[in-house]
Amino acid sequence: MEKTDMKVKGIPIRKLNYIMAAITLIVSIVLLIVSYNTIAVYDNLNEKTEMFMEGQKSATDMQDASDYLTEQIRCFVQSGEKGYLDAYFYESDITKRREKALEKLAVTFKESPEYQDLEKAKEQSMILMETEYYAARLAIEGFGYDVTTYPQAIQDVVLSNEDLALTSDEMKTKSRMLVFDDNYHNQKDIISSKTQECLNKLVNKLEEQQTNASKKFDTIIKVQQGLIIALITIVLIIVVLTTVQVIRPLIKAIPNIRDDKPIPISGSEEFRYLANTYNRIYEENKNQKEELAYEASHDQLTGVFNRKGFEDILNHVSHSKVALLLIDIDKFKRINDTYGHTEGDKVLMKMTKVVAKYFRSSDTLCRIGGDEFVMFINGIGEESSVIIEKKIRDINVELQKGEDEIAPASISVGVAFGDNEEGMRIYKKADIALYQAKENGRCACAFYKEENN
Ligand code: GH3
Ligand code: MG
Repeated sequence: MEKTDMKVKGIPIRKLNYIMAAITLIVSIVLLIVSYNTIAVYDNLNEKTEMFMEGQKSATDMQDASDYLTEQIRCFVQSGEKGYLDAYFYESDITKRREKALEKLAVTFKESPEYQDLEKAKEQSMILMETEYYAARLAIEGFGYDVTTYPQAIQDVVLSNEDLALTSDEMKTKSRMLVFDDNYHNQKDIISSKTQECLNKLVNKLEEQQTNASKKFDTIIKVQQGLIIALITIVLIIVVLTTVQVIRPLIKAIPNIRDDKPIPISGSEEFRYLANTYNRIYEENKNQKEELAYEASHDQLTGVFNRKGFEDILNHVSHSKVALLLIDIDKFKRINDTYGHTEGDKVLMKMTKVVAKYFRSSDTLCRIGGDEFVMFINGIGEESSVIIEKKIRDINVELQKGEDEIAPASISVGVAFGDNEEGMRIYKKADIALYQAKENGRCACAFYKEENN
């Protein structure tokens, strides 16, 4: 088969496949990276949230512890109950909520100015504690308790001579004054507001960090969602493209292949190439078949149907009303002998042309033997006998002229009319009529008559 360069339109599915695979790979890799990052961002968000909550707790603890100490010392100097002072020292020496809160905040904010201020406030509150110790010691003296049963820090307090000179009640009164007067109150307020201000700033910072981490997490989740949507879209595009470019053209082609028809040119460049090639081969095959069928049913010399073509027509064409003319060249042997075989062939060709000229194109001429021909004329009956006779006469006149340097010749014709006749029976009748024509001196036409036979 000849190889031809076919220019075919359409999307090249191979290239498309590579592109889609590359896009899918890139999006998948990005999605994978983003997913790993999401974990990190989520951990960071958790950490920041925890820090924020701990920061808040530290701030509350610091404030609560400070207030608790004040409350305990005040209760002690007022009631003289040792339990309050024990609670005071349990908080300041064992529970140590302020120190622990500072330690926690130091992890994140050690270098920040707020933290430095917070430490200063703590130092100031330590100084205030000395006033509280002094008040406690004075109260112990006032209540007449044994100081050795109290913590070392209280035992270490040295009372001024002036205070030692006071009476028990005066000592109690003074001890209460020390932790209830404006001076104590102011110092306490200054420390407290300073502490609160610093803590607020630190907690705000933590909240800001937590909000940023939350925003980052939100963004990364949205990016992840976008990538998943992109991936789904890519998959859908691949499905649609495969359907449009390959599956649908294939589905459309299969019934045509089954019904021996050309296939529609659609879909991808590759499929179009395939369809074009198939259609070309199909067309060549069809032409070859037609040529073979033509050659098998036609006579090479004259171009009319041959014996096989004649038999096909006789067996397959309806003959409800038909005239069958059996034509034979008169004394053809002699023509061959006189002018040569080639000349004889020319006579055969001329005779075919002349006969065809006098009949309609719908009438079918077949060469069934050497100089023997059959003409089928559909749709006529005996009423056309005169016309047929006239035509044969005219044909013989033309054949005998010999103007065109072709040997003069004549034909004898036997005619039979059929009405739903079957196969060879009508032929046989025409043969009988032909025999009569030959018998009657040739160059004539004879009709088959039932009564004569
Ligand atoms: P009749 O009038 O009785 O038909 O006499 P005839 O000589 O025509 O006898 P017949 O029909 O039997 O002769 C047919 C001859 O046709 C015999 C053969 O040599 C010749 N012939 C057959 N085929 C061809 C052909 O293809 N070309 C040529 N030139 N002659 C052929
Ligand atoms: Mg003959």
